[in-house]
Amino acid sequence: MAPNMSPKRNEMPTQDPAVRAHNFDEVALGYSEEAAINEALRCLNCKNMPCVAGCPVRIHIPEFINKIKEGDFEGAYQVIARSSSLPAVCGRVCPQETQCEERCVRGIKGESVGIGRLERFVADWHNTFVSAPPVKPEPNGHKVAIIGSGPSGLTCAGDLAKKGYQVTVFEALHTAGGVLVYGIPEFRLPKSIVAKEVDGLKALDVKVETNVVIGKTLTIDELFEMGYEAVFIGSGAGLPNFMGIPGESLKGVYSANEFLTRSNLMKAYREHPSTPIMKGGTVAVVGGGNVAMDAARTALRLGADKVYIVYRRSMEELPARKEEVEHAMEEGIDFRLLNNPVEILGYNNPDDPRDPKNGCVVGMKCIKMELGEPDERGRRRPVPVPGSEYVLDVDTVVISIGTSPNPLIKDTTDGLEVNRHGGIIVNEDGLTSRQAVYAGGDAVTGAATVISAMGAGKQAAKAIDEYLSK
Ligand code: FAD
Ligand code: SF4
Ligand code: SF4
Repeated sequence: MAPNMSPKRNEMPTQDPAVRAHNFDEVALGYSEEAAINEALRCLNCKNMPCVAGCPVRIHIPEFINKIKEGDFEGAYQVIARSSSLPAVCGRVCPQETQCEERCVRGIKGESVGIGRLERFVADWHNTFVSAPPVKPEPNGHKVAIIGSGPSGLTCAGDLAKKGYQVTVFEALHTAGGVLVYGIPEFRLPKSIVAKEVDGLKALDVKVETNVVIGKTLTIDELFEMGYEAVFIGSGAGLPNFMGIPGESLKGVYSANEFLTRSNLMKAYREHPSTPIMKGGTVAVVGGGNVAMDAARTALRLGADKVYIVYRRSMEELPARKEEVEHAMEEGIDFRLLNNPVEILGYNNPDDPRDPKNGCVVGMKCIKMELGEPDERGRRRPVPVPGSEYVLDVDTVVISIGTSPNPLIKDTTDGLEVNRHGGIIVNEDGLTSRQAVYAGGDAVTGAATVISAMGAGKQAAKAIDEYLSK
C-alpha cells in the first residue's frame, strides 16, 4: 500500500470538553480500525528505526505498525507483548512526545506517527477480541516476594510467573495497581484495564496479598524466613512533599496523592461517599506536573466552581504532558503561571472558638514571579517580584510539588542503602546492597514514568531468574 504522506496525524476523537468536565468517563476515545490503518500508513518503516531507540523498553515499533497496515492486529499485539506487559496502559499514559514519537522522522516536517495511539488501539483490540487462557509453565519450585503492585511490581511478578516461579505480591493498599489505580484518574486510565492486567497475573497463579504493609505487617527478613528466596521492592515514591509555608495544616489542604486517592480509590466522587472530599467551591492546585493536571481535572469533575493551577514558572517549563495541559485548558482550568503561594489563610472567629469554620481554608496568598538566571539544570530560576503579593480566594488547596520514596522499608531492613533523596541504590541489574533483594521503579529513581518502572521490573525479573537458576 502507498504510504500516507499527510503531515498531520489522524485525530483521535475525544469527549466534548463541556460534557467530560462533569463526568469521570475516559476523555480520549481511541482509533477506529480505519483510522489505525490510515495512521499506520504514515510510518516509513525506517531502516535505522530511530523511534525504537526512544522507547525505554525498545518495542519493535515499525514491525508492529507493519502488522497494523496488513490488518493483522493480533500479530501487532504479539510484537508489542514481546517487550511490554502493559500496552493498554502505556498506549494511554506514556509521555510519547518525549520518547518514541520525539525521534520519529515524520516529526521533522509535520507530526510524528501516532505511535502511542496505535499501541493503545492494538492493545484494546486484543483485550476486546482475544481471550486465550494463559499457558501456565511447570512450577520450578522457587518462591519470590514482590513488594508493591504498581507497574514495576506487576511486571516483575508477571515475567517471573511465566518462568514457573511461585510469586506473591504484597500490597499495602486494599486494591492492586499502585499509582495506576490510586493516582491516575479513571478519565485518563479506566480502572478496568488495570484490573484485567491483575486478573491476568492471578490466572498465572500469582498470589496478590493486599492490606500487607512491608515494614509493619511483615519485614523483609521475615519474608526470607517464610521461604522466599528473592525479594523485589517496587514500593514507589508515595510520600508527598510540602512547601513548608504557613497554613499547610489547615482544613481543606490536601497533598495531591491524598486528594486523588480519596477520589480514585475510596470512590469519594460518588453521591454519598463514606470518604469525605471537597465537592464545590474554588480549588487551587499548586504545581505543574501530570499529577497537578490530574488533581485539577478531578476537582472540576467533583463539582468545583472554579479550579486554578498555580505554577511558579512559565508555560514553557511546565512539566506536564502537552496533551494533558491542552485537555485541562479546554475544560476551563485557569492557569496562574509565574505565581507562587507564600501562605495559606484560614478562617478564625475569635468570638466563637467552636465555630466549625475555624481553621478552614479561605484563601491563598501568592506572589508574582519572573524568570531569572538558569539553574544547574538549565531552567530559568523563578524569582519573586517584590511587592506583588495578592490573595486568591480559595476553599481548597491541593499541593502537588512532587513525592519521595517512603523510608519505611529502608528503616526496617538492615543494610539497605539509599541515596540522599531516599531512592534505593541498585546496580544495573536492580540488585540492592542486600543479597537477593532487588528494587526498581519510583522506589529507586523517585517519581518517574510507568514505562520506566515497567522496564525496571523486567530487568529485575531477568536478574532474579539468573540468580535463582544458578
Ligand atoms: P507505584 O505505582 O507507586 O506502586 C507502588 C505500590 O507499592 C503502591 O501500590 C503502594 O501502595 C505499594 N507500597 C508502598 N509501600 C509499600 C509497603 N511498605 N508494603 C507493601 N506495599 C507498599 N507516569 C506516566 O508515565 N504517565 C503519566 O501520565 C503519569 N501520570 C501520573 C499521575 C499521577 C497522579 C501520579 C501519582 C503518577 C503519574 N505517573 C505517570 C507516574 C507513574 O505512575 C509512576 O512512575 C509509576 O506508577 C511508578 O511505578 P512503581 O511500580 O514504581 O510504583
Ligand atoms: Fe512509545 Fe511508550 Fe509505547 Fe515505548 S511503550 S513505544 S515509549 S508509547
Ligand atoms: Fe515509522 Fe517514525 Fe519509526 Fe520511521 S521513525 S519507523 S516513520 S514510526
